[in-house]
Amino acid sequence: MEIKTELAPLIDILHKTKRVVVLTGAGISAESGIPTFRGEEGLWKTYRAEELATLSAFIKDPRLIWEWYDWRRGIIGSKDFNPGHQVLANWEKLFPAFHVITQNIDGLHQKAGSYNILELHGNIWKLRCTEEETITENHSTPLGEIPPHCSNCGALLRPHVVWFGESLDPSILQSAFALSSSCEVMFVVGTSAVVQPAASLPLSAADSDATVVEINPDPTPITPYADFSFRGKAGDILPRIDGELSLINPSGEE
Ligand code: NAD
Repeated sequence: MEIKTELAPLIDILHKTKRVVVLTGAGISAESGIPTFRGEEGLWKTYRAEELATLSAFIKDPRLIWEWYDWRRGIIGSKDFNPGHQVLANWEKLFPAFHVITQNIDGLHQKAGSYNILELHGNIWKLRCTEEETITENHSTPLGEIPPHCSNCGALLRPHVVWFGESLDPSILQSAFALSSSCEVMFVVGTSAVVQPAASLPLSAADSDATVVEINPDPTPITPYADFSFRGKAGDILPRIDGELSLINPSGEE
């Protein structure tokens, strides 16, 4: 299949499109200053994320894992959304059905004003009781207590995120596949597309004849399935697409 790299044919398609899904990964938040896992700044002390983001690492040393999350919460809490997040929040008003499916746990899509979001891997601002499974929001940076404990039962709290080797919430996953297989256009933005099952969502869209648009400075395993591939930063490419869309559709109406 020929992969297109020009904007004009995509704008023509978008102009007729009603159902859009955007799958985002750590790359969309890179320009906000949040390190990706696979980028060079993705290391903490000498650990790789794969060594820390696991249930066995948490059971072995909850303090260490919470120190890492406290460090990440500190970074994320000091950052803001960028023009890439902003465009996606605006598009929620532009397209009749528009959803973001994110692998990110940083909450920056919400901060930018998006509402229709499926968080596949949880949210770093939510804590879950390891006994009662209750979820609470906590935005303190740094955390008052490391590791934190449930105020109700005293058990350890864990980050409400999906760790390597853990299953995703089946209802969220089901909704993500339903959206992906019924959209007309799927954008795949800033994901290395190596973490499953998220990496299968664009394939499900492609199988259902959606137009797949990848935005990433580097090629990924999704690239061969993409109809359009824009090699660049989300914070540059998304505003460019948005700018062209508004030229054709300046009122922002359908
Ligand atoms: P990843 O780190 O594996 O890959 C990031 C991708 O983004 C790469 O393909 C890279 O080329 C691309 N990229 C880098 N800068 C970009 C930019 N400016 N614009 C567009 N693309 C850019 O990330 P992943 O695929 O999301 O998978 C890693 C896992 O790590 C996910 O499960 C995610 O939950 C987690 N994670 C989340 C955050 C976050 O919440 N911000 C940060 C790090 C890791």
